[in-house]
Amino acid sequence: MPTDVRNRGSGADLDVTHVGSALRVRSRVLLLNATFEPLAALPVRRAVTLLVCDKADPVHEDPDTELTAFHSVGTTVFIPSVIRLRHFVRVPYRGRVPLTRAALMLRDRGRCGYCGDRAETIDHVIPRSRGGTHAWENCVASCAPCNHRKADRLLSEIGWTLHTPLVPPTGPHWRLLSATTELEPDWLRYLGEGAA
Ligand SMILES: [Zn+2]
Repeated sequence: MPTDVRNRGSGADLDVTHVGSALRVRSRVLLLNATFEPLAALPVRRAVTLLVCDKADPVHEDPDTELTAFHSVGTTVFIPSVIRLRHFVRVPYRGRVPLTRAALMLRDRGRCGYCGDRAETIDHVIPRSRGGTHAWENCVASCAPCNHRKADRLLSEIGWTLHTPLVPPTGPHWRLLSATTELEPDWLRYLGEGAA
């Protein structure tokens, strides 16, 4: 059953319609620079604008997930999961990658840094109550039981070993990941090393 999403705002009266037996509705489109460097996770509406204005081209269209069609006057655009700018945009260097839950989970590959199980929480290796910072160098993905068991103790006090290197990630795709709460599986191959 098609779901209508009226998407009104500045400029043209846009009408985004989800077609097919929607398995899921894509909310973001990965924007790549002309050099294929990941730039941003765009709202669908902005991605459509770039496509319709011939500023970007589709890069990745997966027939199973292309569920969203866009209709404006006389045009229908099937919204791809990844698009690429036709012209290179210079991106200024913006310093350290912000620490977010999504980015940390990706750095640690979703695994607990103590036992290797599926991680659900973030643990401060040196507990915050003991002066530990909320920084890449002191945070690790952790399963709930390890997080609970470790509590506010130091690794040296309980004889635990950390299996994850606590390094801040570098590279443009990490900035994108920090700004994105959810990663589309289709994006991973475009996000470079460490993302897959
Ligand atoms: Zn664990």
